[in-house]
Amino acid sequence: MSQNLNNRRLKARCPECLAALWLKETAEQWDPVTCPECHTALEIVSLHPLTLDYLDDWGEDVDEEGLGEEEWG
Ligand SMILES: [Zn+2]
Repeated sequence: MSQNLNNRRLKARCPECLAALWLKETAEQWDPVTCPECHTALEIVSLHPLTLDYLDDWGEDVDEEGLGEEEWG
């Protein structure tokens, strides 16, 4: 019961510093990843092929002010 033949890991590449990152095989799409080389916050945007992209944790900066709404009195 000590077979461990399936512990392959997934190789990805940091878009910032192009370092090779090794992820667990159980990694899933949208999992957050931090590059150990440049500490850039990344996320898995695709598993096939394995692709990392910058994690935009600031969200959408949508400002809905100034739409010119009129109040009906
Ligand atoms: Zn990096």
